[in-house]
Amino acid sequence: MAAAKKQKRQELPYRPPIVALLGHVDHGKTTILDNIRTSSVQAGEEGGITQGISVYSIERNGKAITFVDTPGHEAFDLMRKRGGLVADIVLLIVGANDGVKPQTKESIDIIKESGKPCIAVLNKVDISGVDIEKVKRDLSTEGIVVESMGGDVPCVEVSGKTGKGIPDLLEMIQLVAEISQISAKEPPQQTVGEAVVLESQKDKSRGNVSTIVVTAGKFVRGSRIAYVAEGGRQVQVEKIKGCMNDVGDAVDVLSQGYGGEVIGLKSLVPLGDVIYSVTEEGPELKKLLIDTPPEEIGTEIEIDVPADTEPTEPAEPVTGGDLLSMLLTSQDEKTEEMNALRIVVKTNTQGTCDAIMKSLHKSIKDGIVDVVRAEVGNITVNDVEFAANLGAIVVGFRVDVDPVAEEVAGKRKLLAKVYQIIYELVDEVNEAAADIQLPDESEEVIGQGRIKKIFILSNGSKVLGTRVDSGEIKQGNRCRISREGDIIADTKIVTMRCEKESIHEAGKGMECGLFLDGDVDAQEGDTVECYRIVKS
Ligand code: GDP
Repeated sequence: MAAAKKQKRQELPYRPPIVALLGHVDHGKTTILDNIRTSSVQAGEEGGITQGISVYSIERNGKAITFVDTPGHEAFDLMRKRGGLVADIVLLIVGANDGVKPQTKESIDIIKESGKPCIAVLNKVDISGVDIEKVKRDLSTEGIVVESMGGDVPCVEVSGKTGKGIPDLLEMIQLVAEISQISAKEPPQQTVGEAVVLESQKDKSRGNVSTIVVTAGKFVRGSRIAYVAEGGRQVQVEKIKGCMNDVGDAVDVLSQGYGGEVIGLKSLVPLGDVIYSVTEEGPELKKLLIDTPPEEIGTEIEIDVPADTEPTEPAEPVTGGDLLSMLLTSQDEKTEEMNALRIVVKTNTQGTCDAIMKSLHKSIKDGIVDVVRAEVGNITVNDVEFAANLGAIVVGFRVDVDPVAEEVAGKRKLLAKVYQIIYELVDEVNEAAADIQLPDESEEVIGQGRIKKIFILSNGSKVLGTRVDSGEIKQGNRCRISREGDIIADTKIVTMRCEKESIHEAGKGMECGLFLDGDVDAQEGDTVECYRIVKS
């Protein structure tokens, strides 16, 4: 038996190593990858930060290396951890001019946890005066002892900008792959292929598209694919409608060690989920889909190739532990008694949705943010109505606002804002949430003004033309309207205008138009006092 197994393994072909890059933001991951694939994605990126996750292969000396392009900002640590997990080799990118930084340490923790071989890549060596030896010493302190300091971690000095050292890096990756004996793996029983989902998005013409990296076996167009759908509630089995390789060509087969896309799935599969190419369904398959922890993907299992059978109806619902539903469930118990900022989140992909939820996790846990809906897609009238009925705001990430939804949001004076950078969305939500009242907190006045004129718009909404007398007034602020010492209303600033432009804040001496939450009976001469809640 052991001999048969050995025999089988020897027959398994070469598999390209899957390589992930981890490191502190701005230390040069994008630039290095850019240099490697000699295209220029960095210049076109929003905010200069890698926002998605993708996968592509290059060839060196006739052998492929596959790179998982992991995102740069800490909001993506969820993805970064998964990027580290699917990888066979991890490159720890350290800007030699900047040294070991918080995300370098976080990356080192991920590498240690994963037990994957690592190469230390000291980048930006073209900058004069960089102290390479100091960086190496600092890495040693964190447990990454490079070879020149007596350790076993290979170290390559590069410049992503000039390309210096990049050929050495590729050579080192292939050397480490060889030493680590990275070779083809057989997929688990009842499957012919296993892959990890790196990204899922809705495409107007192609439907649901998942970017995957195949970790064992292969994915063949026209065969069946099995995955957990409906947020962990159902095992879905369906035909693979189309496969694309990493450069966007339609292909019949995606082999292990390579990345690409599977097209036309009924569901948006969450990133990090494992999906299988299958020939047979049965209890084992369901067990595999539901029970397999991600660390066990790609384990070497002797395959017992099953006979092809017809697909059956999807299996009955099962419970799963997807991050989103977990967070939403934990909210249900809190929201009744807590005064949290309610938000509807709409995003362009499942990956960004997960990343935003992860970044807001602390505020959600503390009960100051209540996510009442989080899903992929444009902001629709339904979202706006749903949010308005719950007193929520709508935040979008790289989505469009349907024109009618925009109109309804205006009418209902509801904040619906779209962001292009995740951390701006997260920061603003957290800032707004900090203004929400919790039981043992006190107030702090942040700005005062006086209403100079009241305008009634054609849709009936009221704009309070206000001059700021002290401090500042910000969109989302809580505010009190007072007349001769009596409080007329205690409400919130939903949106702000200056002339015809939307603004988010106005400082002392500025005049602006305020749209308040609710129908407030304000008059000219009333005072507007903005305040926030601070922990006592
Ligand atoms: P990432 O956040 O890790 O993906 O970092 P980027 O690749 O976006 O790089 C951040 C900044 O560092 C950009 O302005 C790059 O031009 C610059 N940069 C990256 N690599 C090098 C390098 O080798 N030398 C120099 N001088 N600058 C670099």
